[in-house]
Amino acid sequence: MTRQMRALVKPEAAPGLVLREVAVPSPGPGEVLVKLEKTAICGTDLHIYQWDAWAARTIKPPLVLGHEFVGRIVEIGLGVKGYAEGQRVSAEGHIVCGVCRNCRAGKPHLCPHTVGIGVNRDGGFAEYVVVPATNLWPIPDEIPSEVAAFFDPFGNAAHCALQFDLVGEDVLITGAGPIGIIAAGIAKHVGARHIVISDLNDYRLNLAKEMGATRTINVRNENLLDILEELDIDGFDIGMEMSGNPRAFNDMLKAMYNGGKIALLGLLPSDTAIDWDNVIFKGLEMHGIYGRRMYETWYKMTQMVLTGFPLHKVLTHQIPIDDFETGFELMANGQCGKVVCDWTGEVA
Ligand code: NAD
Ligand code: ZN
Repeated sequence: MTRQMRALVKPEAAPGLVLREVAVPSPGPGEVLVKLEKTAICGTDLHIYQWDAWAARTIKPPLVLGHEFVGRIVEIGLGVKGYAEGQRVSAEGHIVCGVCRNCRAGKPHLCPHTVGIGVNRDGGFAEYVVVPATNLWPIPDEIPSEVAAFFDPFGNAAHCALQFDLVGEDVLITGAGPIGIIAAGIAKHVGARHIVISDLNDYRLNLAKEMGATRTINVRNENLLDILEELDIDGFDIGMEMSGNPRAFNDMLKAMYNGGKIALLGLLPSDTAIDWDNVIFKGLEMHGIYGRRMYETWYKMTQMVLTGFPLHKVLTHQIPIDDFETGFELMANGQCGKVVCDWTGEVA
């Protein structure tokens, strides 16, 4: 008889998720089986839950969700070296091909053939997940599991924030979702001067302030351009677009200093129009950001947390997995930072 486990599953092409029994996967050559301790809810999981247009064209049900997780290795597949049973790990969610030009050039984060854990194959919203050993990231004992659970989005924030030199610079972040909040913290950590972040949500703006933002803007009742005068600057040196909102992106373009640099992480709609004068006459540099460097970003993230980066401040809710509906509701209404689900029973 195959062993059964509980997993959060998208059962069919429609809104909703179910917590149900599925077979425990078994690790093939080069893979390990991880017993989950914590799984965090990502915006991507919410898209899959709500079954929007992106989810409908991307997800092939039935699928076990989840790509932000931490757990312990319980079984090691053939040929895996350097890992031990009982070891605590998180994992990079993008499985790369290993043979394309970028992979072989040491730039696997730019592989065009990635397979997403919890998107294109079963993920970590389950008691067990199978992961290629190459994707594992060992977690040092000093880092608690509820924090290690969301290293994946921490990685998006870190990859984006570390794209440009922030030391002494004036930084504008549009969008104070979990990733924008963490990015504000990183800008502070590495020594930016002004760190301004915008959103429509005061709860999240307050979290960003706690993380290190020096000025928050609720765009419902304040104008980004007024801030330039307040700070007595001509414009921002560095922009990080983390809202996916065309209005926010256009405001950012207006508020940039000549020669400024923008990292684009938020998923903007394909019909987003911008005033190209801002880009061309100001000589702006723009850089698209996807995922995170494998595995240099993971290294930097780990060392930042070990040397005092307050990643825990963005963790606002820990819930037992049985309450997953509550977690998705929190994510949908935005009254949260990171929401982490527990598989161990230690969160009541
Ligand atoms: P999120 O949806 O939780 O955060 C987006 C925030 O932007 C929300 O708090 C929202 O209130 C805010 N916002 C909406 N309109 C705004 C406006 N006009 N001005 C300012 N803020 C506004 O998402 P997240 O998980 O923090 O991720 C941030 C973005 O990055 C999302 O668009 C997400 O899809 C994208 N993303 C990209 C990658 C990548 O690899 N490129 C990876 C993960 C997430
Ligand atoms: Zn590749």
